[in-house]
Amino acid sequence: MNNSTSGPIEGIRYCIRCCVPETQEGVQFDTMGICTACRSSEEKMHIDWLAREAQLRAILENARTKSGTGYDCILPISGGKDSFFQAHVLVKVYGMKPLAVTFSHNWFSETGFYNLQRCLEVFDLDHLQFTPARGLVNKLAKKSLSAIGDSCWHCHSGVGAFPLQVATRFKIPLLVWGESIAENDGRASYDQPVHKFDRDYFTKVSARLTAEEMIGGDLSAKDLYPFALPSYEEIDDTGVWGIHLGDYLFWDDERQTEWIRDVYGWRETEIEGAYKGYKSAECIMAGMHDFTCYLKRGFGRSTWQASVDVRNGLLTRKEGFDLIRRYDQERPQALDYYLKITGLTEEQFYDAMREKKVAQLKNIDLPVHPKQRPNAERTVPFVQQVIQKHLHQLDPRVARDKDVNDE
Ligand SMILES: [Zn+2]
Repeated sequence: MNNSTSGPIEGIRYCIRCCVPETQEGVQFDTMGICTACRSSEEKMHIDWLAREAQLRAILENARTKSGTGYDCILPISGGKDSFFQAHVLVKVYGMKPLAVTFSHNWFSETGFYNLQRCLEVFDLDHLQFTPARGLVNKLAKKSLSAIGDSCWHCHSGVGAFPLQVATRFKIPLLVWGESIAENDGRASYDQPVHKFDRDYFTKVSARLTAEEMIGGDLSAKDLYPFALPSYEEIDDTGVWGIHLGDYLFWDDERQTEWIRDVYGWRETEIEGAYKGYKSAECIMAGMHDFTCYLKRGFGRSTWQASVDVRNGLLTRKEGFDLIRRYDQERPQALDYYLKITGLTEEQFYDAMREKKVAQLKNIDLPVHPKQRPNAERTVPFVQQVIQKHLHQLDPRVARDKDVNDE
């Protein structure tokens, strides 16, 4: 392996084994220059997965026998690939009866909409979904940029808060998530899986700011109500806790994706900023989220994907860096939709992102390339596409309604 291969951003240190840069939050390099995730992937090979599976069986058995309501656990799903795999494991392998719970970002892609509905049908799941209003999503998307430096506060916050609200209201203590946090992140290891979904967990990990902290300007306390977390007392009363299946079952993204596609008809799509078609396939704004990460920290989705592929021996480190240069640095088409819903100019967007750059990158210019081809899917929420399509078949005066017809 050629460790002198220079990374995509000059002046930044990368893990000597994969493509993880020092600007990734929580990352630590050991004395040899190897990152936490690479160490975790070694650990993953030495874990007694049979013993872990026995632990999982016991946890689920316990949840099933103690379940005081109609449901054994909560299955938070987005319609992504992990959703199918989680549902398969719970329903088909362990005979659980989960309540499927979705916080909708209201940015479902056409493929994502199909995948979610397919998941519900194929596993015959009861389902609760919360969808924030379009106007609220647009306002929060705008505020999110200056507040946390990406477009997606409402999603980070909602996917944390809504399952907890359902858990406490329906008295279903166990939440079952997918991939282990140790898989890609320096903030957990297989030895210390994150178990406690206390009310601050998601705020710390992704939302950064609480619902209360987002109040202000054109956003009222009433607007932010859906994002409020249950109280400590409510969480304790229900005894809410959670597991990641990836801490108990050997997780292999590639294999699982092929398998759910072939067995259950899950569909990939093109995802901006990524060279694989399966991560965050449900959202039209995934590329926007990852592009803001690039502008802040000098890396995006391709860096995660290439790092995993290099660790698994599917790519050389140089091939990984080449893919990263091509995909992380591409201006996503979803930026057009973001500018439209927020009323920001492109200049204002880049100015805001400059403010959010991490210290190591302050004096480094991050290259941005124009996108080479149109996106495979329209970067407009699928529900709006459906509405537009039907309105066009009505009186043309109705179809001219600017709220749904402007693009
Ligand atoms: Zn590494």
